[in-house]
Amino acid sequence: MTENLFITEETIEGDDDGPLAGQTVAVKDNISTEGVRTTCGSEMLSEYVPPYDATVVSRLKEAGATIVGKANMDEFGMGTTTETSAFGPTENPAAPGYVPGGSSGGSAAAVAAGEADLALGSDTGGSIRCPAAFCGVVGIKPTYGLVSRYGLVAYGNSLEQIGPFADSVEDAAALLDVIAGEDERDATTREPPHDSGARAGEHSSYADAATGDVDGLSIGVPTELLEGADEGVVETFWDTIGDLEDRGATYHEVSLPSVEHAVEAYYVIAMSEASSNLARFDGVRYGNSGGYDGNWNEAFSKAREEGFGDEVKRRILLGTYALSAGYHDKYYKKAQDARAWVKQDFDEALEEADVLASPTMPVPPFELGEGLEDPLQMYLADANTVPVNLADLPAISVPAGETDGLPVGLQLVGPAFGEKQLIEAASALA
Ligand code: GLN
Repeated sequence: MTENLFITEETIEGDDDGPLAGQTVAVKDNISTEGVRTTCGSEMLSEYVPPYDATVVSRLKEAGATIVGKANMDEFGMGTTTETSAFGPTENPAAPGYVPGGSSGGSAAAVAAGEADLALGSDTGGSIRCPAAFCGVVGIKPTYGLVSRYGLVAYGNSLEQIGPFADSVEDAAALLDVIAGEDERDATTREPPHDSGARAGEHSSYADAATGDVDGLSIGVPTELLEGADEGVVETFWDTIGDLEDRGATYHEVSLPSVEHAVEAYYVIAMSEASSNLARFDGVRYGNSGGYDGNWNEAFSKAREEGFGDEVKRRILLGTYALSAGYHDKYYKKAQDARAWVKQDFDEALEEADVLASPTMPVPPFELGEGLEDPLQMYLADANTVPVNLADLPAISVPAGETDGLPVGLQLVGPAFGEKQLIEAASALA
């Protein structure tokens, strides 16, 4: 295997039968697996072996799935290319020489390369949808609270969800059926209401909702999410909307004025949460030790200096700054206000449409090595995905075609717990 898909290749057998019997699954390496190293793509955790399974991993095993490895990722989920991994970059199987997207790049690439039937990733600001789009596979970011985060190593805990990758919407939905639902170990989870979304209908499972029926579907297209996007991406996007129209859907333009501030708000909130969540990696509670020679402050500093990469350090510093006394109101509180505004804009737009559609990523995949130099440029690539996490809503990325031979993804966003509606619509395409 040349693509560097896995950080640890190890088979974990599930139960003999169940809905996923005979299926292989790649699991992102920030999801805990009992007895199998879980590194988060970081040197800090290069030797960390969790003593317990994440809830989603227990559910995979009970469903009869076979886990084939722990997939490569940007360090602690911080990135858009999988190049911040301490274990080297992953190559995009659908576009050799290009990045697979991130941060769940190894998971998406494993499915695209046929090395796993299914995969799990996590999405704090687009980390499932971006690699799904770049690798030409399907990825679902569930509504906040649908899937347990117990055993997911936290980056931005108020924003992130674990979700599935697959070649088809129906297969991704079948994996969602296995991992979704309340968990007593994660108090933010809940059972989804039965009828969320106008078109959710009577489908008894997520997989059953993959009917491909878009007759009468009303699609809202947020104009702000097309502005500044690559021309070829926009062209592919409209071709796909045209396909859906031919099959009975209609579209109208909608406006989400708040999304202009979404990237700033997202990065303030995500970095603030990261600075707090990553405090436990000090070489004593968690992480490789920096060695102790009489001064604990120095021991902690050394462990963190050696264990974390540049992007992680940048975010811990900026997040600590944003939360510090005197700056809290200026940055963190403003970002929370922007988050509330983004939520309100989505709610209003979804009153007039069943789903909202945009290109998943405003750009095609980057060439390997192209983007890391300029972090701000990289953050801007998240413009279409981060608003959805700020609003806690579900979204799916489905392959929409290609521009210059590179995969383009279509993002559909639905109302809270409206996954069935999204699956119904997206299954018209893949
Ligand atoms: N690219 C975004 C970031 O770096 C999203 C990451 C994610 O969803 N984990 O924060």
